[in-house]
Amino acid sequence: MTSPSPAAEGSPPVIAPLTPHRVLVLNSGSSSLKYQLLDMRDSSRLASGLVERIGERGSRLVHSPLAGGAAEPRERTEPMADHTAALKAVAEELAADGLGLDSPQLAAIGHRVVHGGKHFTEPTVIDDAVIAEIERLIPVAPLHNPANLTGIRTARELRPDLPQVAVFDTAFHTTMPEAAARYAIDAATADAHRIRRYGFHGTSHAYVSRRTAALLGKDPSEVNVIVLHLGNGASASAVRGGVCVETSMGLTPLEGLVMGTRSGDVDPAVVFHLKRVAGMDIDEVDALLNKRSGLVGLCGDNDMREIRRRIDEGDEAARLAFDVYVHRLKKYIGAYYAVLGRVDAVVFTAGVGENAAPVREAAVAGLEELGLVVDAELNAVRSGEPRLISPARARVAVAVVPTDEELEIATQAYALVRG
Ligand code: ADP
Repeated sequence: MTSPSPAAEGSPPVIAPLTPHRVLVLNSGSSSLKYQLLDMRDSSRLASGLVERIGERGSRLVHSPLAGGAAEPRERTEPMADHTAALKAVAEELAADGLGLDSPQLAAIGHRVVHGGKHFTEPTVIDDAVIAEIERLIPVAPLHNPANLTGIRTARELRPDLPQVAVFDTAFHTTMPEAAARYAIDAATADAHRIRRYGFHGTSHAYVSRRTAALLGKDPSEVNVIVLHLGNGASASAVRGGVCVETSMGLTPLEGLVMGTRSGDVDPAVVFHLKRVAGMDIDEVDALLNKRSGLVGLCGDNDMREIRRRIDEGDEAARLAFDVYVHRLKKYIGAYYAVLGRVDAVVFTAGVGENAAPVREAAVAGLEELGLVVDAELNAVRSGEPRLISPARARVAVAVVPTDEELEIATQAYALVRG
C-alpha cells in the first residue's frame, strides 16, 4: 500500500513509499517450522501457521490467515523434503493472502534462536559471523541451534536483501550475577567447556515481567517480579527492576522446575547410579531425564488437563505427579523471594500458568506470611487478558499474564532494524 502525498498543481502526484512495517517471525525446530506475520503499526497478527514433519512422510502445513475478517485455516499435505521447501510453501500461502515475502512492506525476519551463550546479550542482525557464533554454541544446544540455523539459512536464501534478526532465548538472562550463573564445579573445567547457567524462555520472561509492571501501573525499573513460565517446558525467573537476576533453567533446559517430560532438578549422582547399577549409557539417561520424566514420568500424562481429570477420578499417580509439580514450584517461589528480598508480584504464564487455576492456587497456598494470597473467584476467571488474581489489598500481587513470544521477537527485531 502507498499513500498519495499532496502534489503541487501541474506536477505529477508524488507517491510516498510506506515504511516497511511487517515482521515475519520464524521458530524452526528440527522437523517443524512455526511462523507468524505481524503488522508492527498496531502489533496485529496478519497470518500464522505451522509446518510439521519436514523431511518425513506426511509433511503438513496449516496456515491461518488472520487479517481482516479472518478466513478458515488452510491445510496442505505434500512432501516437503527440507526447511527450504517448507518455507517456500509458507511463502506461497502468504502470497495467496496478498502478504508475499517479496513485499516491500516486510521490514525484517525475526528468528527465535535458543542458545546465544554469554556472547549474545541483545537481539542481533544476522551476518556470517553471527551464524558462525551460533554454530560454535551447538555443543551446548545440540538439538536446538542446528534447527534454528537451518531456518536462518533458508530465510536468507529467500530474501538475501532483508535484515534477519536473531532473538535469543538466553539473552534476557545474561544479566544474572556470577553468583547465580556459576555452578560450584572445578572452575577450569567449567570455563574450558562453557559450563554455566544460561537460562531459557528469556523472551517470555522479558515480555511477561514488563507486562506485569504495566498491569501494576508501574515502570519495570520500579518492581521486583517472580515469573513462572509453566508450559510443556517450565522455568521460573527472578526479575529485579526489569533485570533478570536468577532463573531456574541452566546449561540446558533440563534444570529447575518439574516439566511435562523433563525431570527438572535431580541429584547429578542419579546419572552415575543409573550407569553403574542399571547399566544405562549416557544417551539412555539423557532420554530418560528429558523425555520420560517430569509429569509423564510420574503418571504417564504430561497434559495438566488430563492430570486434573484423573485426580478428580481418584487416580493416585496423577495426584502424586501434581503434588511433586506444585511442591517444586513453591520451593522456587520461596527461593526467589529470598533472592529478591522484596517481591511486588508473582506472575503465572504459558499453557499451565495461564489455564490451570488449581496449580496457581496450590503453588501459593500457605504463603500468606509472605503476603501471597489468591482470591478463589478471581482465580477461577478464564480470560486471555493480563489480570490480577490476588485480593485488592494484598501485599504482593499475584497475576496471570499471557505470554506472547512471537510479539516480543517481532518487537525486538523491528526496534533493531528501525534503529
Ligand atoms: P509449549 O509452548 O511449552 O509447548 P504451552 O505453553 O503451549 O507449551 O503449554 C502446553 C501445556 O499447557 C499443555 O501440555 C497442558 O499441560 C497445559 N494446558 C493447556 N491448556 C490447559 C488448560 N485449559 N488447563 C490446564 N492445562 C492446560
